[in-house]
Amino acid sequence: MDKTLWQNVVAFHGHSCFGLAIGYHVATAALQTLSTLRDIDEEMIAIVENDNCSVDAIQFITGCTIGKGNLILRDYGKVVYTFYLRKKKKGIRITVAGPDMSDYPEVAALKEKIAEGGASTAEKALHAQKSEEAIFHYLSKPTEAVCKISEPVWDLPEKARRFPTLTCNYCGEAVMEPRARIKGGKISCIPCADAYSRS
Ligand SMILES: [Zn+2]
Ligand SMILES: [Zn+2]
Repeated sequence: MDKTLWQNVVAFHGHSCFGLAIGYHVATAALQTLSTLRDIDEEMIAIVENDNCSVDAIQFITGCTIGKGNLILRDYGKVVYTFYLRKKKKGIRITVAGPDMSDYPEVAALKEKIAEGGASTAEKALHAQKSEEAIFHYLSKPTEAVCKISEPVWDLPEKARRFPTLTCNYCGEAVMEPRARIKGGKISCIPCADAYSRS
């Protein structure tokens, strides 16, 4: 594994965790399998089927981001990721074998003790150290042991479009056209329209 890349991913995300390690495996497998580099201008697109920690590693490593519109969340709570290259018309679907916590019994036992409130400061420090070792053990597994790669089941989504900006008649703030609503015959943003429906 690329330790510097991992350290940068952790710095972006804020902490080291198994979810992030899953995203590291998925993102590096995607770039390798599609023989491409980090995305610059929406040539690559990612569809993620969960919104857990893994997605931050995917954004950081693949360059598919919410802001560029080439990271799409379909929140099905599944550990499944799809990537496409637009011009090359290539795509892959990745399913993941997550860490098996029975491989790390010491971590699991310490975690339970901490949850029950009976852990000493030393045990908490030991848990942090053992967790970090377990994450590195999972990170160092070969891609094939973690990621199962197959053909995509989704069609390639269309490129992010630009839309006209309208003004909400109720709060006076700007809202993009496809998200605007009509309330009392006037243009409204969603929060203003929702406030109306609740009252
Ligand atoms: Zn995390
Ligand atoms: Zn409004």
